[in-house]
Amino acid sequence: MDDLLSRLAGRLAEGSIEIVDLTHALEPDFPVMVLPPEFGQCARFRIEEVSCYDERGPAWKWNNFSCGEHTGTHFDAPNHWISGKNAPNGSVDTVPLGSMIAPACVIDCSAEAERDEDYVMDVCKIREFERENGRIRPGSWVLMRTDWSKRSGADYINLREDGAHSPGPAAEAVRFLVAERDIVGLGTETVGTDAGQAAHADPPYPAHFHLHGAGKCGLQCLANLDRLPATGSVVVAAPLKIRNGTGSPLRALALKAKTGADS
Ligand code: MN
Repeated sequence: MDDLLSRLAGRLAEGSIEIVDLTHALEPDFPVMVLPPEFGQCARFRIEEVSCYDERGPAWKWNNFSCGEHTGTHFDAPNHWISGKNAPNGSVDTVPLGSMIAPACVIDCSAEAERDEDYVMDVCKIREFERENGRIRPGSWVLMRTDWSKRSGADYINLREDGAHSPGPAAEAVRFLVAERDIVGLGTETVGTDAGQAAHADPPYPAHFHLHGAGKCGLQCLANLDRLPATGSVVVAAPLKIRNGTGSPLRALALKAKTGADS
């Protein structure tokens, strides 16, 4: 076996690699994106019992569930957005597997998002991250930490008369990450990769427009980003293989070295 893989396998077996769960539980109460009423809506998670060791199935328990492709902690494929509708390998069943396991850069915007719920991460903030942590490598997931995952219920979508209020990236920041850093995608703790007020940006929903137009992916409703180092962790995020699907709920994980563990 390759030496590196052999060492990784050993570290996993002995428990000296920590596996961080970046996923919220799928449950009916988990908030989903709310669009203006003239548009179609993403469905919440629903679950119904088929049998529970009873007359419907004496020795077994199972459920049926349904939800939208973009419900709960989920993956966005390039074909989710009109800019990526013709992207090669642009659906969840064809997205390159290399996008699903990749190094993570975690940009901590939690202080900014606490001060300003409409905080927009700009290129300046990314360059500040790189001054402290080194240049973002091509093929990385960039995860925008805002601690938004600690909110629940109505505070999570934070909908007001003028729409949702939640942090996200600036158009220029996404263009920079795509064109200058060649990331595999952007992950956020909010219900979308874009800020709540991104309909007013130029272009509207710039993260969706620029990421997916360039064949890049998205992760949303992530949790536990505060448990990841700025660099050095590895994201494992494999969506369901839905034929021509535009996204999927998934179990997003990150591997990181346990503090104090040596190689
Ligand atoms: Mn989505």
